[in-house]
Formats: sequence, structure tokens, C-alpha cells
Amino acid sequence: MSEHDKDAQDSPPETNARESQEGEAVETTPATPAPVIGEIEPVEMAQAAIPETLPVLPLRGLVVYPYAALPLMVGQARSVQLVDDAMRGNRLVALVAQIDPSVENAQPDQVRRIGTAARILQLLRRPDGGLMVAMQGLERIRIDEYISESPYLTARVSSYPDPEDTSLEVEALRRNAVAAFQQLVGLAQYLPEELATVVMNLEDTRQLIYLIAQSLQIDLDVKQEVLENDSLSGKLRKLNEVMSHELEVLELGRRIQGQAQEEMSKAQREYILREQLKAIQRELGESDDQQAEINELRERLEKAKLSPEARKEADRELSRLERIPTASPEHSVIRTYIDLLISLPWMTSSGGEIDVPAARRILDEDHYDLEKIKDRILEYLAVRKMKHDRGIEGVAGEREPLLCLVGPPGVGKTSLGQSIARAMGRKFTRLSLGGVRDEAEVRGHRRTYIGAMPGSIIQALRRAGTNDPVFMLDEIDKVGSDWRGDPSSALLEVLDPEQNREFRDNYLDIPFDLSRVTFIATANTLDTIPPPLLDRMEVLQLPGYTEDEKLMIATRYLVPKQREANGLTEGEITIEERAIREVVRAYTREAGVRTLERQIASLCRKVAREISERTADSGAAHRPNESDESIAKDTSTHEAQAPILELPSANSTDPGEIEPVGDGAGAATPVATARPVIVDVAAVHRLLGREQYHNEQAERIDRPGVATGLVWTPVGGDIVFVEAARTPSKEERLVLTGQLGDVMKESAQAALTCVRAGSSRLGIDPDLWDRSTLHIHVPAGAVPKDGPSAGVTMALAIASLMTGRPVRADLALTGEITLRGKVLPVGGIKEKMLGAHRAGIRTVLLPRQNEKDLDDLPSELRAEMRFIPVGEIQEVFDEALLPLVTEPVLETERISA
Ligand code: ADP
Repeated sequence: MSEHDKDAQDSPPETNARESQEGEAVETTPATPAPVIGEIEPVEMAQAAIPETLPVLPLRGLVVYPYAALPLMVGQARSVQLVDDAMRGNRLVALVAQIDPSVENAQPDQVRRIGTAARILQLLRRPDGGLMVAMQGLERIRIDEYISESPYLTARVSSYPDPEDTSLEVEALRRNAVAAFQQLVGLAQYLPEELATVVMNLEDTRQLIYLIAQSLQIDLDVKQEVLENDSLSGKLRKLNEVMSHELEVLELGRRIQGQAQEEMSKAQREYILREQLKAIQRELGESDDQQAEINELRERLEKAKLSPEARKEADRELSRLERIPTASPEHSVIRTYIDLLISLPWMTSSGGEIDVPAARRILDEDHYDLEKIKDRILEYLAVRKMKHDRGIEGVAGEREPLLCLVGPPGVGKTSLGQSIARAMGRKFTRLSLGGVRDEAEVRGHRRTYIGAMPGSIIQALRRAGTNDPVFMLDEIDKVGSDWRGDPSSALLEVLDPEQNREFRDNYLDIPFDLSRVTFIATANTLDTIPPPLLDRMEVLQLPGYTEDEKLMIATRYLVPKQREANGLTEGEITIEERAIREVVRAYTREAGVRTLERQIASLCRKVAREISERTADSGAAHRPNESDESIAKDTSTHEAQAPILELPSANSTDPGEIEPVGDGAGAATPVATARPVIVDVAAVHRLLGREQYHNEQAERIDRPGVATGLVWTPVGGDIVFVEAARTPSKEERLVLTGQLGDVMKESAQAALTCVRAGSSRLGIDPDLWDRSTLHIHVPAGAVPKDGPSAGVTMALAIASLMTGRPVRADLALTGEITLRGKVLPVGGIKEKMLGAHRAGIRTVLLPRQNEKDLDDLPSELRAEMRFIPVGEIQEVFDEALLPLVTEPVLETERISA
């Protein structure tokens, strides 16, 4: 075997022959004209008789079929010699594929046994010594036996043509193959479109098979299999199988590409639209502000802790917001809504631990006395703590009572609520229900309404910033209801532990959990609280304070508080005890301490002003000879604005020129030496102006026919004067004035009958009644009055009038009267007694059955007042009527005249 044995080089697998026209130094064989390779005419197979021996050219990575015309690159010396030798002879060679394309100098056992006999059509010699050979495949051959291996392989071969087959099956398979191939041409880039037409027009099935097989980019083994398969149907089946697989792959690829393209173009479209939108917004002056706003909202949303439901809603609204121009009214609606979602305390709680002893300390710190109330609050807190510690909090069906603090204004209801919050380590929030008539105020308006807002419950929680605050429902007695719905039904839902887990505000429209909120209610009176609400409440009564209690509250709490609030220090102002008493007596008339606090605030403010004015003037004041004069002038020319404090002056020789702060006690107030301004009684008068209340008792009860009664009102107990007058008339008549309610009117009737029945005992001329019109008037007419408790008072006024005996001026009374003259018990004794004391009354007549209520009274009241229990009206007359001063009839006649 020669060392020159070389393999034939593969041609590129492309069948497109034109691509192989590349040789520069062209040397065609003289025998044949040089046809264009692509236009080689198919050779008549019959002409090609296959000789018995043929030189074998092993092909690397290529299978050549009969009918195929294609160029081959031949580079190896062994193969070049083979081609050269063949060119000199019959130009025929055997083209057989190598088993392993990577092997060089393939030996007989490394090439396939079935191949194709081919004729060399044309030859180009390349400068590097290699050849470009145009080949025409002729017929299938089988290698029977190698007869030499040097200088190249030569073998004995036999022609091995494919058997003819015109069966229906082959026809069907063939059509199938044509269709599949046409489809493939449509999809595969590497198949030129003309091929589809060529294939369609081919009549010879074998030619068709080989052309298709040659065109496809398929596995070499498969190509060889097509060649070797001995039946046309087998070949076609194989091809169909390969092609349908190929189609699937291509189709899938196309779809993937399509999708990718679609996504690409969608993203592109959106990008373009967004850019356009931005341009439009810029034109409209909206520019990037909107985006900045959205980004800011999104950032806040990320940070906020929302319930999952709220988060979903917020995200949805946010993406809506993005699409709505800022100028649109809807934009701000959505924006407000998202803001609310973000700012609500969905998951934020303060969750402080309840410490009962600490709570006691806090309550004592904030409030004077109120022992019973504090005890009850501590019990309440202890139970809460116990339940919490034992994990039985908020058990379904387990209703906690709603604490309701009831009492006149200014008795500390709100501040108790604040203390409870402090004791529980919770935030405090309140909602005033006074005058709320519309359910939507509590529950909000649906967002579809313009200007819709969340209800007051949700707003209060937003203010609180936590979901477990102490929530005060203020003035729950003033909730109204009308055609706009019943707010109390919304309140019931809020307070019901079974429902308030999922409280739904109309505006919010997502449930908010209220189960951790501690509700406390306040009211002035129980009478007007809707019964279902009242049913849920545990009532704690705060009737009001006595003068001494007010004094204590003022000194310990209100003065320090107001001093601080007005920027003063302890060293700068002292309000004398007598001065506070004066404020209580002459400048307030209330059950609570609200006005008192206001008056103290006013004192502090005025002192603060004086101090700062004096400090500003102090430079001048210290100039010798000037200061005294200027102050003196001040005081003399502006009496109304007389200074209440004076700066110390070393030169002051005549203190008489300087008006002191009060009645002399702590007059001079040197800021420089930090001696406090002392506010005494005189200073109070000067600073607060004229007394606002005085004891009118003596003036009012100066004649027969007037009596002082005690009444209960939502703002505390008070006194009223009942006046009676008689005018002569033909028949008996009773006139009632002063906005009296029905019950009170009936009570007046009963009082009249009762007195009349006892005329003889009182020494009243029985005939007098027939000739009189009796007029009973209860002044302060703008205040509606009702209830039976003025019965005895009216009877006393009538008796006084008819007997001409005046009523004792220092005395007041309460009690219901029966026709037979019995005195029946009434309510509100504690408030009434406080009111009486406040008004300067020191003797009270009250129904005997109410005696037990006196146990609750503050000791101060019991010490200063005299309580006379009565069971019969006669006892009242005996106690209250003074001896006769004038002739009764004359007196009354004179009044009426
Ligand atoms: P209400 O809610 O009952 O109308 P507030 O709670 O507003 O009354 O009380 C008015 C003022 O009186 C508050 O400054 C409160 O601190 C003060 N106050 C009321 N009662 C007391 C008390 N017992 N001790 C200390 N301060 C009190």
C-alpha cells in the first residue's frame, strides 16, 4: 500500500452547487466542455453500465445518491491519483460513505458496503494541488470484495438497483412525502423555495426519494439508511418519519420565536405609548410629577403594614391611579383612598401590659378622690389582665361590659378615659357623638359619592395610629336617629365582639378588625341613651364636686396644669386658697370643674402677661427717678388695666403710689428675686372682673308665694324658684307657665288640690279658691322642666301665697306629692344636694324615703347642711313657712292690683 493513499475530501453538505464554484486556477479536462455545475443534465441511467471493478472513493460526512449531481473537493494524494486515473479511463468511481467520518485513510472495514457508482463530469484543478470534481451519481452498488488497497481502494462491485414498486402504498407515501417536503420548504431556511416545485414535478419515485433525502439536513446514518433500504416504501416511510419530526421541531421553533416576537412587540408598544403619554403629560404640565407621586405612594405602601386584603386593594387602586391623569377628579379620589389605606393601623398596636398597681398610681396621679370610680376601673382592668394572661380574651359570646361614665360636664369623664389609656399603655382616641343623626357619619359614605369620607370610627383609629386604643364614645346620650338611618345600630355593631372583628366601613369597603379596641362611653344623662346601647353598659356615676373638693382639685391639679400651660413656673405664681374659693363661688356655678379650670387659666394668662410686660419695662424701671413715676402714672391713668404686680424698686419711697396685687398680703412681686406673684381675693376680682354669680336666695324669697326647689339636669343639680300668684276671677282657674312638661303640670294640679284640701288646717278661707285664678310660674323659662319632683315645692309656694306666710329663705326642697299630701321619694338626690350646697342652701327638706341616699354624700356636705326628712306635706309647711307677716288676702290682692 502506498503512502500516498489519501481520502477524498467532503464537499460542503449544501446541495447548492453554486457555492462550490470557487477554484481560481481552473484546469478543465480537455475531453469535456466545461458545463456549469448547477446545470448538469441528468444522465441516462441505462447508458451507465457498471463495470465489475471500480476504484472506491471513501466519503467523509456525506452520502451520495443516484441521480445526484454535485461537486466534491478532493485533497488527499491517494484520492487525487484515483480521480486522475479514473479520468484517464471510464471516469467511473464508487462513492461509499465512511462509517466514522473522522477517520483518515479509511481501510475497507471502515467504509460502508452499499454506495453509489458515479461518473466524473468535470474537474477543476486548484493551486494547492487539490481538485474540485463535479460528480453525477448513477446507481446503487454493493461492494463484494476489495481487490487492492494501494495506491487506492479498488473493489469488485455489483450493481444493486432499487426494486420498482408502483403499489398504492408507495403512491400514498410518496404524496405524503411531497406534502411534508413542501411544508418543510416553507419553514426551513436552508431549503430554497424552487425545490418545492422541482419535487412536485418529479415523476420517478426513486429520484424523488433521493432528492429529498439529499436536500434534508439530517443525520448521516439516516441518510445512509435511506440509501441502504431495499424497498421504496421503506425508504419513503423513513423519510416521512424524519420529515414529520423535522416539521414538529421547526413548527415549535417558529412558535417560540413568534411568542418572543409578540412579547417584544408588546413591550415595545407599551414603551412607545408610555413615551407618548409622557409627552402629552409634559404638554399638559403634568410631567413627571405624577410618576413621582406614584413612586412615593408605592414606597410608603411597601413600608406600611397592611392586612392582606388591604394590600391587595391598595395595589389595585395604585395601578388604576397610574392610568388616570392628575387633572381628573377621580385621581384625587383614588389618591385619598390609598392614603387612608396606608395610614390606617392595620397591624400596628401598642399592646401595653396592664399593671394594676401602676394603674392605681396613674389614676391617683391624675384624679382627686373619685374612689368608687377608680375602684371599679381597677376591677375592670384586673379582669382584662386576668383574661389576657389566661388566654381567654375575646372569647366569642363573652361580652365585656362597656364602661359608661355618666355625669355633668367637667367632672373628669374624659380625663378618666385618658388615664385608663395611660394605665393600659394604650393610645387614646375619642369620637363625639353629640348630635350625630346620620348612620353614615359613623360608618362612612360609599366611595361612589362625590366627597365621600370614611366614617368617624375609622377616622378616629387613623388618628390613634394603633388598632388597640382606648376609644371614648363621647356623649353617647346625644345620638339621634331619623330618616338618615340609626347611628346607634352602627354603634351596636362596633361594640359587639362577635361583629366588630369584621367592621365594614362603607368608604373603606374592606373589613377592619376592631376587636382589640377598648371602648368607653360618656354621657350626661342615662334617660336618652337608646335602650339597646344602655343594655350593654355598666354605668359609673360622677355626680359632681363640692366646694372643698373643687378646691383640692384646683390646688393639686388645675393650677399646676394651667400654670405650666401658660409658661409659668411654680416660683412665679401662687393662687391663695381663699382666692380659689372666691373663683368657685363667684365666678362658677357648675357641678364639674370645667369653668373653674378656665378661670384659673385666665388668671395664669393675665399674670403671665403682666410679668412679661414688666420684664420688658424693667430697664426703664431701674433708671433712677423714672420708674416709680411711670408705674404710678400707669395705675392712675388706666385704672381698668391696673398692673397686678410691681417690680421691686430700691428708690420707691412712697409705696402708697403703687397699687398692690391684692388686698395687701403678697402685694409686691419681684420677678428679679423670683418671689411669686400672689393672687388673692382682690386680685381675683380685679383680674376676672365682676362677680358672675351671687346668692340671690334672699332677694327672691322676700315675699309669700315663692319657694326654692331642687332639680336635676344633665349638667348637674340646681335650684329653681317656684312662684305663685293669685288674681281675683269669677271662677277658679290654674295657669302654668315656664315651659313645664306634662308630668310637672299634673304635679301642679295635684299640689293645688292637696293644699286646697288642707285649707282649714292652714287657716285659708275656703271661698277664696273659687274667686281666684292661680298662676304658677317657674322662671328660667328657656330650660324645659319636667318630672314630678317639684310637687312639694309647688304645694309650698301655693300654701305660702294663700296663707301670706313667706318661705324660709335658706331652705330648699324636693319631693313628689300625692293628692292626700304624702311626700314620695325622687331621684338624683346626690346631684341635687350638691346643687343646693353650691347655691348656698344649707337646709333641705327631702322625702323620708330618700334618707338612705344621703349616705353617699361627701362628708363636707353632711357637716355643713341640715337635712330634714319629711313624709307628709304638713311637715313641710310646719318646717318651711314663717309666721304670718301680713293679711294674706290683702297682700295677694295688692300683688294682683
Ligand atoms: P368631662 O369629660 O367630664 O366633661 P373633663 O374630663 O374634660 O370633663 O374634665 C375637665 C377638667 O377637669 C380636666 O382638666 C380634668 O383633668 C379636670 N378634672 C375633673 N375631675 C378631676 C379630678 N377628680 N381630679 C383632677 N382633675 C379633674
